[in-house]
Amino acid sequence: MPADLHIHTNFSDGTFSPEEIVRKARDAGLTVISITDHDIVDGIEPALAEGRKLGIRVIPGIEFTTDLPDTEIHILGYFIDHKAEWLKDLLFKIREDRKNRIYKIVEKLKKLGAAVSAEDIIGLAGKGSVGRPHVARALVNSGFVGTVQEAFNKYLNNSGPAYVQHFRLSPVDAIHTIIKAGGIPVFAHPSVSRRDELIPELAAEGLAGIEVYYGKHSDLQVKHYQALARKNGLLMTGGTDFHGLGTGRDIQLGDIKLNDKFITKLEERLKK
Ligand code: AMP
Ligand code: ZN
Ligand code: FE
Ligand code: FE
Repeated sequence: MPADLHIHTNFSDGTFSPEEIVRKARDAGLTVISITDHDIVDGIEPALAEGRKLGIRVIPGIEFTTDLPDTEIHILGYFIDHKAEWLKDLLFKIREDRKNRIYKIVEKLKKLGAAVSAEDIIGLAGKGSVGRPHVARALVNSGFVGTVQEAFNKYLNNSGPAYVQHFRLSPVDAIHTIIKAGGIPVFAHPSVSRRDELIPELAAEGLAGIEVYYGKHSDLQVKHYQALARKNGLLMTGGTDFHGLGTGRDIQLGDIKLNDKFITKLEERLKK
């Protein structure tokens, strides 16, 4: 049962619908996937429905961006109760501020010479969670930059001239939120956040796993995070962080195939 536990749909900044993701996952030889959109759970039901048709298991998931000076930590949640009203309310609030932030980003971009409209960018996300990748796509569409990658490198990355934060939870609050929703909190792509030193204290707050298997991780990094997981009594997960086409990322569905035993371990944790 090969699995990929980190996938985005067009309910956040991915380019494929949940149904398309399930079909692509099947074509790539996956049998278990988790939909982990940023700050939204609305893609989960459509994925579950398509998964039932095609015999693909879909684990409800989420990815929270959390707030730390100088860096971002992303916390994944697995097996969350995606129907919980309080959770949907919280996510709605975060998404509203994601929209507000787009206006601020557009103001900064205007001063930098780019003419893109906040309404158009928000429109690109539809009813979903709007983010910097949508801004990047609008900048490409307007011809101001050639690629999404260029938009991030020159303007949108965390230290870029058009960067604006949105309301986000602290890492500890994200962990507690996922636990309250019945889920398992996991530290996403630790090599990207580069704050390994926080892992013991987050584990003490309920962090249950580390995303050891990740597209950009070298063999050495995988070994490093395996050791860190063992040392802190954490589970190991993995996924591609697939976002679709034209998103400035090369990785494809099927490039990471997590062994069954990791899913079993997550399920054992749920029973505790
Ligand atoms: P946001 O959540 O709106 O702050 O946007 C962050 C998202 O942008 C991340 O989750 C990635 O999907 C994407 N992203 C961040 N940096 C890059 C980059 N250098 N190239 C392409 N996508 C990126
Ligand atoms: Zn993303
Ligand atoms: Fe992430
Ligand atoms: Fe992600």
